[in-house]
Amino acid sequence: MKKLIVFLVIFGFVLEAMAQNQIKINKSQLFKDVQTLSSDEYEGRQVGTEGSKKAQAFLLGRFKEVGLKPINNSYEQKFSPKSGINATNLYGMIEGKVKDKYIVLTAHYDHLGKKDNDVYNGADDNASGVAALLSYADYFNRNKPNYSIIFLFVDAEEIGLKGADFFVKNSPVDKASILLNINCDMISRNENKVLYACGTFHYPLLKNLFTLEMRKYPFTLRFGHDQVGKNEDWTYSSDHGPFHKAKIPFIYFGVEDHADYHQTTDTFDKVDKIFYEGVSNFILDFLLHVDKNWEKSYK
Ligand SMILES: [Zn+2]
Repeated sequence: MKKLIVFLVIFGFVLEAMAQNQIKINKSQLFKDVQTLSSDEYEGRQVGTEGSKKAQAFLLGRFKEVGLKPINNSYEQKFSPKSGINATNLYGMIEGKVKDKYIVLTAHYDHLGKKDNDVYNGADDNASGVAALLSYADYFNRNKPNYSIIFLFVDAEEIGLKGADFFVKNSPVDKASILLNINCDMISRNENKVLYACGTFHYPLLKNLFTLEMRKYPFTLRFGHDQVGKNEDWTYSSDHGPFHKAKIPFIYFGVEDHADYHQTTDTFDKVDKIFYEGVSNFILDFLLHVDKNWEKSYK
């Protein structure tokens, strides 16, 4: 009996240690990053503005903290999406065991700027995706992935996916070595608690990778929004579009539009923390699954 009790106590400690280890995302940091980027100080992060420059400086500071490494000695990809406008994609890498094959994670950091004194804060669109990517960089910096992961923070999405388009056409790594793009754009709220995974219509094999038990997440995952003529087709609605055009498989995670979409009311206080944390954890779990099972699943 004594032995059994000792065993149970030790077993309890082991379980607790395992549970501690399973904390993958620092949620207070996750919320803080959304709050910072969507604060008035960043003036809506419109491409080519002072607010955008502030956002870039903030992101580069966070890159150092989460251990992102430059690609070909640079964190920046400058381009001009329109005459007279200077834009900057920011990116960094976590090298995998297989160094020369890549998963590209995207989230646009630009938004709509301000109108007179009204700031388009863009908390859901898309500080939410940006903060999630930073949390994943932090995780993979501590837990080396199998494939190399490029974290691409896209500029000029709101004026026609210009940053993603420029990246795909001027990729710092061999385009043929990009396995997959996973795009996060608007992932922090939905009144029906539904997250969409868009893209499996175009790449049916990707469905093989959706094997996670969903019961533990506080939302419903749905496929769709990727066919012409069926509800809304999101195939070219965000930064995954240019990857798809270049025949690079993609999954886009996002929610349906809400009343605050592209309004000055898309603010941090509207973030559904339980939903957002759950979605962020799920996408990381999905990424881990993809990283581990790509070879055997995607064929
Ligand atoms: Zn967006």
